[in-house]
Amino acid sequence: MAPERPDPLGDMTPDEFRRHGRDLVDWIAAYLNQDDRYPVLSRSRPGEIRAQLPQGPPASGAPFDAIFADFERILLPGITHWNHPGFFAYFAISGSAPGVLAELLIGALNVQAMLWRTSPAATELEEVALGWLRQLLGLPPAFEGVIYDTASVASLHALAAAREAAVPDVRVEGLAGRDLPPCRVYASEQAHSSIDKAVMTLGLGQRALRRIAVDDKFRMRPDALRAAVAEDRAAGRKPVAVVATVGTTSTTSIDPVGHIADVCEAERIWLHVDAAYAGAAALVPETAGVMDGSARADSVVTNPHKWLFTPFDLSAFYSRRMDLVRAAFALTPDYLSTPEAGQVKNLMDTGVQLGRRFRALKLWAVLRYFGSAGLQARLAEHMRLARLFAEWVDASGQFERLAPVPLSVVCFRARPPGYADGAGGGNDDRLDELNARVLEKVNASGEVFLSHTRIDGRYALRLAVGHIRTRERHVARAWELLQAAATEPRRNSI
Ligand code: PLP
Repeated sequence: MAPERPDPLGDMTPDEFRRHGRDLVDWIAAYLNQDDRYPVLSRSRPGEIRAQLPQGPPASGAPFDAIFADFERILLPGITHWNHPGFFAYFAISGSAPGVLAELLIGALNVQAMLWRTSPAATELEEVALGWLRQLLGLPPAFEGVIYDTASVASLHALAAAREAAVPDVRVEGLAGRDLPPCRVYASEQAHSSIDKAVMTLGLGQRALRRIAVDDKFRMRPDALRAAVAEDRAAGRKPVAVVATVGTTSTTSIDPVGHIADVCEAERIWLHVDAAYAGAAALVPETAGVMDGSARADSVVTNPHKWLFTPFDLSAFYSRRMDLVRAAFALTPDYLSTPEAGQVKNLMDTGVQLGRRFRALKLWAVLRYFGSAGLQARLAEHMRLARLFAEWVDASGQFERLAPVPLSVVCFRARPPGYADGAGGGNDDRLDELNARVLEKVNASGEVFLSHTRIDGRYALRLAVGHIRTRERHVARAWELLQAAATEPRRNSI
């Protein structure tokens, strides 16, 4: 049917929008409830999607039906389905249905919340929704919150505030050409690469990041931190910040934040807690202790887009020193000044970014729809599934676990008989190759998608449970596929 275009200079007509909108919502409802229609990991080859699209822009418009047909035919094969219950890679995430509906409203309103007056509800809802989440995390009211897109950006802002506190006039004078001691930031060997990127971006240089040794459970050793700070002070270097991780990326280990806070308080160093993945576990009574000690930090980040069913992207940043974040970034040109300044918060003051999406709406919708009890039940189930999978691994003569399972991620590898651990010798290389092959094979099934990491030099498979529709049968299927894949390559390789 030809599209109605009554106003050649206007937008899509309301009728047309209604029709496509309904079709789209129907499509999404079916999409979110199908497990087997698409392979989880895209089978697209490099360049394949691009080659199917015109290289130049279209001169004349096309009906939305045609656009959607291209989406289904060309683009969907190039999608890796993060919103699939067989997604076990990296940190499994969910764009839950209430969050998706909120995204639709966010798109419709198209709010740009740089200033309070550019949408008072966006600024004030952000405060309220982050206040709720703060309480769920067990952080005191002294922590003010702001939403960024990602944890990487949140940690960058935390370290910018720490730099602001540690280096006089850095905002105006910068770092170059000044008589300043080298700065140091401390994080464990297991901390996320976003911390490297933050120190690089802030002009401290990657060498400024000192990696602190971990214990046998991959947690930062406070004694090693204390020694590193003492050594740096003795050498005339300037400790600026410590980043503790609650839920490290490889193994989800949890740094002893309380002991690290002791060091930071004694040494007067900014403490930032990266709880990007594991902060959510604070909602579950059995794992509420994950945030122990974080109330003593200067700043904390957690990602509702990771394990709190909020569509990507939404990262919640909290600081008891938001004045320093503002000192680092607030800048109001005349064209952005408002009469209510002083009575309200303007989100543009809390960071690099001027424009802000109305992300708070989706966090609010998710928190309201599920309630803390609903969220807690779902997170607890993910942890149960991870423990169950770990039990299967432990009971198997073919696989072994490579790290504890404090939350919802299991690190393990295939080690069939005949592949004795060479403790770093040549045998480990063969095991690494075997496991890389197992991973490729399992992922090629299209039913599940797992990723890998390296633990103590060993190639490790990683199963992360975190999608809202993942059930025991999906985890069981992953286990079946893994067992089959681990048996076959061995025949070929010996
Ligand atoms: N911190 C940790 C511990 C992570 O695991 C990750 C990503 O997995 C990040 C930070 C970065 O998250 P984002 O993609 O929100 O920047």
